[in-house]
Amino acid sequence: MRELDSRLIAEAVADMCVRANTVLPDDVRAALDLARRDEDGEAARGILDTIIENYRAAGPVPICQDTGLACVFVEVGQDVHISGSLTDAVNAGVAKGYTDGYLRKSVVRDPLDRVNIDDNTPALLYTELVPGDRVKITVAPKGAGSENMSRIAMLKPSDGIGGVRDFVLETVRLAGPNPCPPIVVGVGIGGNFDKAALLAKKALLRPVGSHNPAEMYSELESELLTLINATGIGPQGLGGRTTALGVNIETMPTHIASLPCAVNINCHVSRHVTEVL
Ligand code: SF4
Repeated sequence: MRELDSRLIAEAVADMCVRANTVLPDDVRAALDLARRDEDGEAARGILDTIIENYRAAGPVPICQDTGLACVFVEVGQDVHISGSLTDAVNAGVAKGYTDGYLRKSVVRDPLDRVNIDDNTPALLYTELVPGDRVKITVAPKGAGSENMSRIAMLKPSDGIGGVRDFVLETVRLAGPNPCPPIVVGVGIGGNFDKAALLAKKALLRPVGSHNPAEMYSELESELLTLINATGIGPQGLGGRTTALGVNIETMPTHIASLPCAVNINCHVSRHVTEVL
């Protein structure tokens, strides 16, 4: 059994919180650059120019003022023993990263009394047991502007692929300019109510431009991207052909009487950093 000191996890998470918030991932940069090349509307091109100038100027300052909830995905190998509490280590890392990195603290202690906790904890921690003796950590800060536009539907099995297509498009149309387009659209299909939502969020961790390995879903991703960009919502909702940079679909088996479909939207500041310890 391999031993791993939880303090190493805390240090890594602190560093990753800062990096995720100040350096836009290569896949998102490339998608934005490509979108700028293909845009023809004057306003849309101007907005994409500003977005590109912003991500280039970021670091050490954040890419966006909303440095988000700290979503932390941890895959724990079954053959590694972590000394100390994993949850405490992740939260210590988030508190240190958000404090030392001067990142905005966005967590309130209660959904109704709304008092800021002032260190951005607790993290939204998602753990999964996997084979091996490594610990894989992904930090994906998530702003509220895009998160608030997410939706889930318990479709009927007879709604089929058309029902999924309509629900995703309706969700993007309802969101309009609110999630700071161009957006990345995560879609989770299958499982149950909560698993579909988690699949949609995990879909956002996949690089923009990558595809679901199943041909049917890969084609649906491409079709949805075309349809979303045909809505004309455009960068920041001011019109144009670039409403989304990518659509990522993740699926899992489901009940014979269910067709859960969740949509988790991300903005153009689609942040994620991964490290393996
Ligand atoms: S939706 Fe994204 S770009 Fe818009 S304010 Fe929130 S984090 Fe920033």
